Amino acid sequence: MRYAVISDIHGNYEALSAVLSDIYSNKVEMILCLGDVVGYGPNPNECTQLIRDHCHHTIMGNHDAAVFDPIMPQEFNKNARIAIEWTSRELNKKSRDFLNNLPLKWDNDELLAVHATPYDSHLWYYITSIEDARFNFNFFSHSFCFTGHTHIPGIIRYEENSGEIAIIKPCNYRYNDENSRFIVNVGSVGQPRDRDSRSCYVILDTDTKEVLFRRVEYDIQGYQGKMRLIGMPEFLVTRVGEGR
Ligand code: ZN
Repeated sequence: MRYAVISDIHGNYEALSAVLSDIYSNKVEMILCLGDVVGYGPNPNECTQLIRDHCHHTIMGNHDAAVFDPIMPQEFNKNARIAIEWTSRELNKKSRDFLNNLPLKWDNDELLAVHATPYDSHLWYYITSIEDARFNFNFFSHSFCFTGHTHIPGIIRYEENSGEIAIIKPCNYRYNDENSRFIVNVGSVGQPRDRDSRSCYVILDTDTKEVLFRRVEYDIQGYQGKMRLIGMPEFLVTRVGEGR
């Protein structure tokens, strides 16, 4: 099976369109979306529509959840809160119905898909250390757990026999060790934060046993222009150009 896994689109239509074209030129059989379809970007309805039309399974992210929760946005930083309040006003009924009914996880025999962590995914914790990763490997038994949320792509490998954990930078990675399991962060389509402003997503091919990190150029300036037009804070506009 050949999967494309995307995450953290954040209303960036230019980025999502470019990523979908790249996905279709890579002949995948299933497209999974790990959530945060909206928040930050000026096209939440258009992005929700594209996700709905093209993704086989979509998981809820914390920004999607925040649209429907009066408490959550208050815990966001100021810029994220401004963005989510704008998004909440902008979303039409069709988008709201779709986002409000997303599940918190999806799985099959090969993989588990969540937005944040396999442990209680609705708590929106982050995996940022070896200790976080070790803890989270206890909460799934699949070979792969795919996550987004941090907007930082990478692979964490857990070797079952030795208990060893290794962090692998995004690369074209070939796995053939049956005793290892993996947490794969697919990075972000709409707001990468690893100092590379290009969109990021992952292809998993379970026949060739490869995890491929794809970077896709898109019209960043066009996107930034639209963000300014709707009055998004300048910090949010410049950060997408710098991938931070
Ligand atoms: Zn996000």
